[in-house]
This record gives sequence, C-alpha cells and structure tokens, in this order.
Amino acid sequence: MTRLLTDAEGNPVAVTNAEAKGEFVFLCEHASRRLPERLGTLGLSEDVLKSHIAWDPGALAVAELLAARLDGALIHQRFSRLAYDCNRPPESKAAMPVASEIYEVPGNRAMSEAERRARVDELYRPFHDAVSRFVVERKAGGRRPVLVTMHSFTPVYFGRQRAVQLGILHDADSRLADHMLAIAVADGAYDVRRNEPYGPRDGVTHSLIEYGVRYGLPNVMIEIRNDLIRDEIGQRGMADYLEGLLAKSVAALSAQ
Ligand SMILES: [Zn+2]
Repeated sequence: MTRLLTDAEGNPVAVTNAEAKGEFVFLCEHASRRLPERLGTLGLSEDVLKSHIAWDPGALAVAELLAARLDGALIHQRFSRLAYDCNRPPESKAAMPVASEIYEVPGNRAMSEAERRARVDELYRPFHDAVSRFVVERKAGGRRPVLVTMHSFTPVYFGRQRAVQLGILHDADSRLADHMLAIAVADGAYDVRRNEPYGPRDGVTHSLIEYGVRYGLPNVMIEIRNDLIRDEIGQRGMADYLEGLLAKSVAALSAQ
C-alpha cells in the first residue's frame, strides 16, 4: 500500500475550540504550506514553496483570532494545498494541481493511481469526514452552525494588480453573504465585492456546498487580499473588522 503521511506527521486535520459555545464554524483549507515529507519539494524552489500557491498566507491567523473572539470552532488542514487542495473534490483537476498560476508543479505531473488515492485518502477524506461529522453532531444537538471558510488571495495575479480587498463568496445560498455585503458596502471600510476575485464558476465553492448548502446552514467564504494580513497588526485589524461584520450579519439574518 502506498502511504503518504508518516506516523510522526500525525493527523492532517486540526480542530480548535471544538467545545465552543458560539455557532460559528470556521474552516481553513489552505492554512498551511507544509508538505508531507514523502513528497519532498514537488520539484519547486524554496521561494515558490513559501508563496501563495502553496497556502493562503495570513488566513489561519485571522481565522484563529475570529474563532477566539466569537467563541467559534475552527477546523484546518495541516498540509499544503499543493499536496491536496481540500476545497476541491477528488475528481477536480485542481485538487492536485499540475500548475498553479504561473508555476508548474513537477511533482504532481506523473502520479500513479495509488499515489493519487493516498493523497485523497490521507488528506481530503479525513478533512471531509471531520467537518461533516462536526456539522452533523452540532445539528443533532439542536444547534444552528454558521459555516465560514477563510482564505487569502495574492494582490498580483498573472502580473495584474487586483483592486478588490475583500471578497464575499457564496454559492446557491447567499443569505449570509447578502447581509455581509449590504453592511460592508454601507460602511465603506474596504473595497468589498461579491464573488470576487473568484466565484462559483472557478470551482472554489466546494466546501460551501459540501458542508453548508447540503446541511442547510448559513454559509460564506471570505477571501482577504493577503497584503492586508501580512503581519500581526494587519491580521488583528482585519479580525476586528470581520468580527463586527460577521456578528452584525448573523444578527440581521436571525431577525428575518
Ligand atoms: Zn484559499
């Protein structure tokens, strides 16, 4: 049997604040740039392995702050999306990308069927099962989870500068996103846009559909331009803003 992770590498899924009293469940699929040891460097340079193609810089830090302040739970993947992108289903080409933005990923080019299966079984399945179980258990306990997936994006993509600072993304269920957008557009604190810089057409709403829409939970994906959350000051500032935005939006949703 082809195995991907070593015993020492442990569980690929980390759950923080599982006993949280609040209803927010934060997900961070692209939290880490760590690669399983057995994958080596995937043929990439150290610089590329530190870049946005390997992870979402700053996203986990902001998610941790939000989970603490809003007394929410946080579930994150401990390995890089270059090994397996947990916001993509196994049948998607982007799940184990052979190229990302302007970079080729040589180590993902000639994988055997057994190697692909090991990545799905050891990175995607545990994440998928952990989140599904968490949501189902909470619902069974009479609670109403609110699903928020946390991401960051690069300010320069294919050589072009992006003006959008905050993306509020949704799939078929836009209830929470609509409230967030109405409040954020009115306060004018950031350049906030609906389904930008990515949207459902780019296949980025897999987690929203699997864990939100499927169980009827209010859900939203937040994309933060990563230059805004490069350091602790930026991360705290963004968490301040999103804490208020999320709390107000959920209150507005409940009042309907
Ligand atoms: Zn992401």
